[in-house]
Amino acid sequence: MKVPFVNLGAQFESLKTELVDTFVRVGSSGQYILGPEVECFEAGLANITDTKYAIAVANGTDALELVLAAWGIGPGDEVITAPNSFIASAGAVKAVGANVVFADVGEDYNIDPLEIEKKITPKTKVIIPVHLTGNPANMTAINAIAKRHQLKVLEDAAQAIGATHKGRAVGGLGDAAAFSLHPLKNFHLCGDAGFISTNDKALYEQICLLRNHGLVNRDESIRWGRNSRIDALQAAIGNVKLPYFAKWTERFKQIASRYHQRLNKVVECPKVSGEDCAVYHNFVIQVDRREALMAHLLEKGVESKIHYPIPLHLMRSARKFGYREGDFPVTERQRDRILSLPIYPELTDSQVDYVCDVICAFYEAAQ
Ligand SMILES: *Cc1c(COP(=O)(O)O)cnc(C)c1O
Repeated sequence: MKVPFVNLGAQFESLKTELVDTFVRVGSSGQYILGPEVECFEAGLANITDTKYAIAVANGTDALELVLAAWGIGPGDEVITAPNSFIASAGAVKAVGANVVFADVGEDYNIDPLEIEKKITPKTKVIIPVHLTGNPANMTAINAIAKRHQLKVLEDAAQAIGATHKGRAVGGLGDAAAFSLHPLKNFHLCGDAGFISTNDKALYEQICLLRNHGLVNRDESIRWGRNSRIDALQAAIGNVKLPYFAKWTERFKQIASRYHQRLNKVVECPKVSGEDCAVYHNFVIQVDRREALMAHLLEKGVESKIHYPIPLHLMRSARKFGYREGDFPVTERQRDRILSLPIYPELTDSQVDYVCDVICAFYEAAQ
């Protein structure tokens, strides 16, 4: 049996007729950037995130960066985030000229509120908790810290659309949130895209300006911005896909629960707080003899990945931050043990069972 790590073509195939119709409709409309398809899509996204405003932009990295820019974050400011994320969480901070400060994570792979507190200085302006693997960070504790120190909270929810903390959707838990709709995310389009959600009207208005050169109409710009607009075609694809969002999210959870049941006694499965509902962008286990297991899985037709093999503080691009191996012990210990298993709505139960069989057989043989 073959179990690829992703299978984007399968989702496209399942919606092919609707998507082709959409291409024809948008193509003949002549409205290719922003416009009614985008507005309709944004309304759907605001609904999912249970926020007043959603603004679609070019990608998830821009979503992070535009919020920071709108808040006036720049040189001399410090922004605290997690070192075990995708590079963009830190890259967006560098892009506005501010300094990245990392705080170690906990056993749930999310930034540890106690570690955040240790990193706060008079220069700290923003905390960016990453809801890694689709599991919400401890937003109750993080918001309390932010309030005490008068900091902004920007959720990096790129992996967590649809997840909830204490029954409330991610996206509306901090001051603003950034999402990615990249093909490898839980809910994705056929290309790059992202969005911002917030309940703050003033922020919403500023980001609408920043994504389109500060233009208030065709000719007049009132604030320096740039081009981070989204194509009408991508938004239209999103409008085709939105009705399936709940079903797909449910399927991610079902697969995760199947993995949990079968693997819990064999490997370390993800830990999700009873207050949270995770959406499993990745199903990350922790294992002994990881490289041997990966090779064995591949030999049996199962692709697995590591998210992420190089923590951000050890990236060559981050050399000037002055961090070194040993600075974030939890992140570094996890880096050596984590393994992401295939998880996407189109994965069948028998494929999931097969992955579990291969893993169980590997550890039984070792005994
Ligand atoms: C994917 C991702 C981003 C960036 O999104 P893009 O759409 O690829 O720019 C940011 N943060 C995290 C945690 C991500 O996984």
